[in-house]
Amino acid sequence: MSLRFDDRVAIVTGAGGGLGRTYALELARRGCKVVVNDLGGDGHGSSGTSAMADQVVGEIRGFGGEAVANYDSVENGESIVKTAIDKWGRIDIVINNAGILRDVTFVNMKEIDWDLIFKVHVKGAYAVTKAAWPYMRDQKYGRIVVTSSNSAVYGNFGQVNYSAAKHALIGFSNSLAQEGAKYNILSNALLPTAVSRMSKSVMSDAMASMFLPEHVTPLVLYMVHEKFVDTGKLFEAGAQWYGTVHYYGNKGKVLPEATVEDVRNNWNDIAGMDEIRYLESSKDHMVELMENLNEQKAKM
Ligand code: NAD
Repeated sequence: MSLRFDDRVAIVTGAGGGLGRTYALELARRGCKVVVNDLGGDGHGSSGTSAMADQVVGEIRGFGGEAVANYDSVENGESIVKTAIDKWGRIDIVINNAGILRDVTFVNMKEIDWDLIFKVHVKGAYAVTKAAWPYMRDQKYGRIVVTSSNSAVYGNFGQVNYSAAKHALIGFSNSLAQEGAKYNILSNALLPTAVSRMSKSVMSDAMASMFLPEHVTPLVLYMVHEKFVDTGKLFEAGAQWYGTVHYYGNKGKVLPEATVEDVRNNWNDIAGMDEIRYLESSKDHMVELMENLNEQKAKM
């Protein structure tokens, strides 16, 4: 049975081009009503035009879908959500996708490079999600995606600002997942890889032809569908490959009254990954720590 979005309302931020455009088009093809948000600026966070969002809305209406344009910057989350509420009276899905780059080595980074990246990626996701949250809570239904990046997980040369902001979004989503659980609001993070205005300078032509944005779209649509159940997770897509990333820790070592020398002498147990474990939450982490301590005490 095909996965449909009839009667659902979605906001896709930064949907005037790249990945966001493909999400908006496919959601609309599957019956979703879509707010196509894009301020239509350049890739570095300046200037703006309504043309990008209008074009995507035109494409959607061209095949009989329902869409409305919004040209606000994502920090104006309330007015983006108001566009959905004024038009359709509800909001079910928020895909926080808008983004810019200000790549520069840390030594040459200016405060504006840091601030603009945080304003668009972190403040933007906060502002749109915050404005949508009360509607989602009241209707006991919501699907949220934040767009992170492999740069957040692994770091990337020249992207101290971007990787810090993208990692902030993982924490944002993980905590939202916990607060949203009892209201059937799911929140997950995405690590995409696709050719776009943003990434084309770092991809060869051969790579670009493999990493089409359309290959990321099916994963994102599933992540915001009513049948989706995972929350607080990190999913990855690129070039027709789909997967997940989890953080693993090791068993570590309890060292009562440790000195610096004890830490040095036990470094293999502290830093080695021979025995790994996966914990779902901070609560699990605390439970495991207490169990380790108790085990150690019992041996003393
Ligand atoms: P893109 O530049 O094609 O799309 C980003 C869109 O966001 C643009 O249309 C732009 O106008 C819009 N935008 C920028 N600032 C905005 C603002 N303040 N308010 C509203 N809209 C704004 O790039 P893309 O590759 O499609 O990127 C989409 C998302 O995926 C971004 O968050 C990006 O960081 C992330 N991402 C992309 C890749 C990749 O390989 N393409 C990898 C990791 C993460």
